[in-house]
Amino acid sequence: MNITTEPLPDYVEKVIKQVTGKTWEELGNDVVFTVGNNLHARCEVPKYLMVHELVHQKQQSESPEKWWANYTNPAFRYQQELEAYKAEYKYLRVHFKAESFEVAKEWATHLSGEMYGKCVSYNKALLDITRQ
Ligand SMILES: [Zn+2]
Repeated sequence: MNITTEPLPDYVEKVIKQVTGKTWEELGNDVVFTVGNNLHARCEVPKYLMVHELVHQKQQSESPEKWWANYTNPAFRYQQELEAYKAEYKYLRVHFKAESFEVAKEWATHLSGEMYGKCVSYNKALLDITRQ
C-alpha cells in the first residue's frame, strides 16, 4: 500500500460527495481513503486503520473505478465496510482487547450516521461487527 497526501481522483470525490454530502476536506484530515493501491491519508495511519484499509485494497483489486461506482449503493457499501470493520475488530481484540467494544460502538455510530450515508441501523452494525 502506497500512502499519499495527494488529492483524490475526481471520480472518488464525486462518490464521497454523493454519499456523505461533503468533500474530503469538509470530512476532515482524520478520514482516509483507499483507491486501488493508494491510501490517501493526511494523518498518521495506525496499524488497526491499516488493517481496515488493506481489506478495501483487496476488495478493489479488480477495479477501483468499479468499486467506487458501486459504493454509492448502500447495501454494497455496508457489506464492504462490514468486512473491513470485522477485520479491524479482530485485530483490536488481539492487541487492544479492553478498548475493543467501546471502539466498535463508535464504528456502529459512524456506519449508521452521515459519514456512511446511513447505510445501516446502529444496533445491526454493532451486532454484525462484533459477531465472530
Ligand atoms: Zn472502510
